[in-house]
Formats: sequence, C-alpha cells, structure tokens
Amino acid sequence: MPTSYDVIIIGSGVGGGAVALQLAGCGAKVLILERGPELPRGAENWDPEVVFGDLRYRSRERWTSGGKRFRPGQYYFVGGHTKFYGAAMFRLRERDFAALEHEDGISPAWPISYADLEPWYAQAEHIFGVRGAAGIDPTEPPRSGPYEHLPIPHEPVLAAIAKKLQEQGLHPFPMPAAVDFGAGGRCVRCGTCDAFPCRIDAKNDAETCLIRPALRQPNVELRSEVLVERLITDDTGRRIVAAQVLERGARHEVRGELFVLSAGAVNSAVRNYMSHNSTALMAVHPQHRNDTKFPKTLAISDYYFGDADDAGRGPPLGNLQLLGKIREPMLRAAMPAWTPRAARNWLAAHSVDWYVLSEDLPHRDSTVRVNGDGSVDLRWVRTNQRAHRRWVEKARTILKRTGYPIILTKPFGMETPSHQCGTARFGTDPQTSALDPLCKAWDHDNLYVVDASFFPSSAAVNPALTVAAQALRVGHHLRTQVLR
Ligand SMILES: Cc1cc2nc3c(=O)[nH]c(=O)nc-3n(C[C@H](O)[C@H](O)[C@H](O)COP(=O)(O)OP(=O)(O)OC[C@H]3O[C@@H](n4cnc5c(N)ncnc54)[C@H](O)[C@@H]3O)c2cc1C
Repeated sequence: MPTSYDVIIIGSGVGGGAVALQLAGCGAKVLILERGPELPRGAENWDPEVVFGDLRYRSRERWTSGGKRFRPGQYYFVGGHTKFYGAAMFRLRERDFAALEHEDGISPAWPISYADLEPWYAQAEHIFGVRGAAGIDPTEPPRSGPYEHLPIPHEPVLAAIAKKLQEQGLHPFPMPAAVDFGAGGRCVRCGTCDAFPCRIDAKNDAETCLIRPALRQPNVELRSEVLVERLITDDTGRRIVAAQVLERGARHEVRGELFVLSAGAVNSAVRNYMSHNSTALMAVHPQHRNDTKFPKTLAISDYYFGDADDAGRGPPLGNLQLLGKIREPMLRAAMPAWTPRAARNWLAAHSVDWYVLSEDLPHRDSTVRVNGDGSVDLRWVRTNQRAHRRWVEKARTILKRTGYPIILTKPFGMETPSHQCGTARFGTDPQTSALDPLCKAWDHDNLYVVDASFFPSSAAVNPALTVAAQALRVGHHLRTQVLR
C-alpha cells in the first residue's frame, strides 16, 4: 500500500461510502480503510439460528455501561451496518430541521434546512433505488419529484391491516424501501431482510450502491480488515497528518492530506450519544397465521407531531412501521428461559411485527467514553420516555382495532444501538457543536466527520437516508471546493 493519499476515508458504511462515490473519478487518490472484512455469502446469511442464535455476525467486542458489560449489536463489515439494515429509507420531516418542542424538552434545530438537503435526498433515493409512494402521509416533506420506483405491494395480511387503519381515519403509507424488487429485480422475498445480510444482493446497501460503484474508478482503493486506532496531528494539533492503523497484527501509519471519519457514530467520536426510543410490538391473532414473505411494507406517521385525536396538538409521539418478521431464535433472548420452544414458534407464526419509534432528545450526560482497555463505555440517559410509552399504548389500541387481540411489547435497550447518532453534532457555533454545517471539524483544518455522528437531533424516523444525503452533499463540496 502506498503510504500517502489525498483523501483517507475511515469506514465503508453509508457516510464513508457516499463520500467515496462522490470522489470517484476525480483527480484525488482516495483510500477507504475498513476494519471489517467483506461479508461472506452463503446459506447461513438467511438462517435465523445462525444470525440470532449464534450471533455469527455480531462484533465480539464488549461495551460497558454503569458497571454492566454487554455485547452490543454492532456489525463490522464492508458496507457497515447497512449489511444488516431493514432498508427502510425515510426522509426526515421538514419540521425536524427546526427546533421542536417535545414533552421532555426541545429537540434542537439543524444548521441546515430541509430545502438544503432535498436535492441530496433525491440523489440518495436514486442511488439506493428507493421504492415508495408520495402524497399519502400527511407529515411527508415536499419533494422535487416522485419516487422513481413503485412501492413493494402489501401481501394480503398487511393489505387487510392497511384497510383497517384507513377505516380508523389514519393514513397508512407504503414504507420507502431500498430493495431491488419487482420485474427483473433480484428480491425473491426470502422472508428475512431486516437484521439479516442479503446473500443475493437484493438489499440495496452501502456496499452494493456506494462502495462497489466507487471502486470501479481507478482513483478509489479499499483496504479491508484495517482497524484505524487513532488519528495523528502535526505539532499545531490542527492538522491530521496520518492514521495509525492495525493491519493483520502490524501497526503502521498511513499519511493523507484530508481525512473523512465515517466509522459510525459511536466509533467516530467520544462525546455525546443519542439513539431512538424504540419498542418491538407483536400483534398476535390466535386464529390467523402470518405467512407474509416481505413484511416491511407499511408505516403510519399520523401521530408524528402530536396526538391526532387531540386535533394534532403536541407533544410529538413518533412513527409506527412494520418490523422484519420476528423468528423463534429472536424471541429466545427476549422471553423467559422457561418458555417452551413450541410456544415461541407459535407466537412467531401468528404475529405481525411492528416497530414503535420516538425521538430521543440530546442530554449532556448521554455519552460515549473509552475505558482504559480501549473498550467503549456508553451512558444513555433515557429521555422522552412518557411520550414513548404513550405512543406504545396508542399503537396497541390502534392495532387491537385492526383485529389483533393480543399485543406483546418489548422495548429495545442500549444493547441495540442500531440508530446511534449525534456523537459529534454539526452546527453554526463552535462553542456548541463539533462540526460546521459541512461536517468539517471546527478543531481541525482537514478533518470531516461524515456518518450519523452529525445529527443534532435524532428525529423519529430511520437515519440511513439522511446520513447518505448529507454525505453526498459533503462529498460534492469536497470534490468541487476543497480538492479542486
Ligand atoms: C439491524 C439494523 C437494522 C437497521 N435498519 C435500518 C433501516 O431499516 N433504515 C435505516 O435508515 N437505518 C437502519 N439501521 C441503521 C443504519 O444502518 C445506520 O444508521 C447507518 O448504517 C449509519 O451509517 P454510518 O455511516 O454512520 O455507519 P455504518 O454504516 O455503520 O458505517 C461505519 C463503518 O465504519 C467501520 N469502522 C468502525 N470503526 C472503524 C475503525 N476504527 N477503523 C476502520 N473502520 C471502522 C465499520 O465497520 C463500518 O463499516 C439499522 C441498523 C441495524 C444494525
């Protein structure tokens, strides 16, 4: 490997991949350093026993929190967390970019507006082949054009639920999904998707949509299984001059002119922490099996900014969307050990599975720190819990009205940091933010942090499309303004 590059990107997930794609074909020599390997393809990719029973793909690292040690849901592969994501590709709502009053406090404003990001959202949807239908969800932000691909149709069980939601005056809409589906598409409705890698590349993820196309250009190089341990500055402390890496047991330095840190929010920045308040919900009908093969086609946002039953007044509650199909091995960890396997199998066969999502607010004591042995110490002060619990109760009522008499819920805890964000927030004031509005570190002249770290608020929709949109915006800036 040459020892000096124009641009070094750390991490091959959404943020790093989108910057790499923007720089592909320009004059600069770009190196992507990725700690993980390429994810091995095979039948085990779709095996719930392997993915959830053995936790085959989950990182073996242990994090701590208040004296507790746990194995977080972290995945290190080329493509980052999107190798396991559910491919739900939402835009934030326009009002998410402004300060928004929640029950527990203010969700801070972003330094850019929705209009600033809209063209990049459109480009990100194009690159990820997002399928959807505009004009149904009343909270949907304005768009410069329709979705390029039709939504994935509901299978019968879900179509019936959508109808019953409409009868309640709600506006269920097709979940925007980055899946290569339909005529000529790769998706075979394997029934996995969310939390599973796709062995046939039908899930449009950061590896298939960003990294591989970027690598087709000769100026972009990827080195996998290279762990970046630290960034080294010059004597002034303002310029990064090299990344110290651990590569196949050997430690050395890779020098560069410009550094893009995209290691994922927790690994990029030892600072603040945010995620989402989220709860898994199983709506069970004892007489009806749910044989749906593609389960993630439906969402509602009617209560996103407030309680629709209270004339839309606040405080905001959140989004409700279908979850990937829950399987028996997933229930094993969530239910008491004495629960018979047959009972878990029965539940999984008769449930429609949902994800209840509300905003987590920034809190100064929600932090990521590093322990003496280099492991992560995560402190997460839970915010907005009353609103989240109310939203879960409302979701329970709504879903009971669709004809499902049994509703089981299980909140996600800090072991599931899937929607980690906000560790190095962007803003207009160096006193209150780590990054400027184009994700350049205020403290360093040649360091950009481009992953979910930059979120000043978590909003209440899935983050990946917003990470991609901002990374495309920053990548364009680097190419046209910085590397000229
Ligand atoms: C199971 C699951 C389901 C999800 N479902 C959805 C969904 O449906 N919709 C959605 O919007 N979001 C979803 N997410 C979240 C989404 O995947 C993330 O928001 C997104 O990937 C964040 O992008 P990123 O660039 O910040 O980090 P990542 O995509 O995680 O990329 C970070 C990269 O940096 C690498 N890295 C880390 N440390 C180092 C180091 N020291 N040296 C070198 N490389 C390093 C990692 O291996 C990784 O490749 C899901 C996440 C999970 C885990």
